[in-house]
Amino acid sequence: MAENERLNTFYHHLMSVWGKTHGLRTICELTCRHLAEDFAATQVQLIVAYQARWNTLLRMDESGIHYQFPPTKIKENNRIPFSQITHTIRINNARLDNIENGCRLWLPLERRSVIIGLLIIDLPKDPHLQCSDFNYLATLLASELDAGLLSESIEHEHHGRRTAERELQISQHEQQALQEQLQALHDISFKLWRARSIDDMLFTAVDEAKKVLHVDRMAIFLCKGNNLMQGTYGTDLFGNTIDEQYFESKIPDDYWYTNNKQVLKEYLSVNENTPLYHDFKQVGFGWNAYISLWDEDSPVGWIACDNLLTGMPFLSYHRQLLKQFGFIVSQHLVRRQAEEKLIKLNKELEQRVLDRTAELERVNGQLEKISRLDPLTSVSNRRVFDQRFREEWLHASRHQQPLSLLLIDVDHFKSYNDNYGHAAGDRCLKMIASTLESLERRSGALFARYGGEEFVLLLPNQDQFSAGYIAQRALHAIQMLEIPRINGADSAATIVSISIGVNTIIPTENNSPDIFFKKTDKALYQAKDNGRNQFCVSS
Ligand code: GH3
Ligand code: MG
Ligand code: MG
Repeated sequence: MAENERLNTFYHHLMSVWGKTHGLRTICELTCRHLAEDFAATQVQLIVAYQARWNTLLRMDESGIHYQFPPTKIKENNRIPFSQITHTIRINNARLDNIENGCRLWLPLERRSVIIGLLIIDLPKDPHLQCSDFNYLATLLASELDAGLLSESIEHEHHGRRTAERELQISQHEQQALQEQLQALHDISFKLWRARSIDDMLFTAVDEAKKVLHVDRMAIFLCKGNNLMQGTYGTDLFGNTIDEQYFESKIPDDYWYTNNKQVLKEYLSVNENTPLYHDFKQVGFGWNAYISLWDEDSPVGWIACDNLLTGMPFLSYHRQLLKQFGFIVSQHLVRRQAEEKLIKLNKELEQRVLDRTAELERVNGQLEKISRLDPLTSVSNRRVFDQRFREEWLHASRHQQPLSLLLIDVDHFKSYNDNYGHAAGDRCLKMIASTLESLERRSGALFARYGGEEFVLLLPNQDQFSAGYIAQRALHAIQMLEIPRINGADSAATIVSISIGVNTIIPTENNSPDIFFKKTDKALYQAKDNGRNQFCVSS
């Protein structure tokens, strides 16, 4: 192909597309393509003045055509040394140099006597080709560059402004979201107030926080003494809030908690692009955050949360929000723990008072019982008799029923004591008491030690006949004991015996318990006088 013809075709191609295109980029890229097609150009570089610097706007090599706006700094390892480029611009000299395997065309681009760019084209060797053949290309490109760079930089400015506006919008949106989140935090705090127990409070904290704070999973752990961690509520792999109180473990040595005491003090530690775990197993990748919970200067636990389920980004306001949330949960936790401790203490105290009261009642009961018993014989004492005697008197009086009384006295007991000693006397009294006590068990009957070696048997609603019969049985029962005794001067008896005074009355206004008792005593004396070991009925 003749050289002129080739140039004509090139310019023809250029002009036919040049008129139709909009934008510097297309013009530069088309020019490059035609240089490659029509002249087998192997390399093109378009250097332009941009922001008081020489930068690369376009580069074509074996890897393709690369246009970049804003233009980039010329690289250190550029194929054409920077010094050669600046030198050519300085001398403003279009020229065709021979290089290895071809030639290199240097075309300064001038506009109103100012160099605004430099086009460098590597071509195969062609003796017919001259530098001046491309003067027209240089003029055309210079005028396009002049206008294009200006409009592109205006467009670039616009783009920058639009981006800034969009960023502003986003930040306004985030601001509003933060406001909403703070309101949500307030609502959560209110719900925590109203929780029924510490357990309910922790469940609510996890469940509500996930709904409104834009986190996927959350779990609250409490510190227990001796470096132990205790689960409370957490989130399963489907996002459900679950009871994790079963979980109790030593805090691992390599755990964030152990290694981040300093971070702990700042309440929040966020890790982006980090492995996410469930039950110590890695289940995904994303961000996670730990919020430490404090009771003044001592750590009481922490909250862990992440974005495992939706992969949503960690938003700028999350940081502030999570800190606030941690603070709220800490406060509620500490208050609840103190309350529960107090309730527990109160309960313990109440129980102690109850125990004490029960013990006191038991002791009182024992005391009462003791105060009613005769210490030697363990039968009812005189106090009981006196009280019951008056009650039964009134009862018998009201209902006009008979009341019988037996006064029982051990015969010649003084000499028994004298002969056998006081201890033997005591044993003897005990035997007599227990024998007589088991004698009459009809309801209402009362057997008591009246004093010394004297006993009483009160028989409500029993007539004289019945009383005489019982007296007879009493005499017999003591005789049957056959407690031996030495004959004394006062008696020929060889076994211990008793004497009994028997009296029966239907109380009337003319009588009194005292008179009735005295009369019974008289009957007893009568029995003694009659020879002892017998009973005598009051006349
Ligand atoms: P009588 O047949 O007339 O009743 O003669 P007595 O010796 O039983 O009567 P007296 O009233 O003279 O003596 C009663 C004695 O009972 C005096 C006392 O030594 C003895 N006695 C009283 N209480 C106790 C006691 O608790 N233990 C002992 N071992 N003896 C007692
Ligand atoms: Mg006596
Ligand atoms: Mg006696």
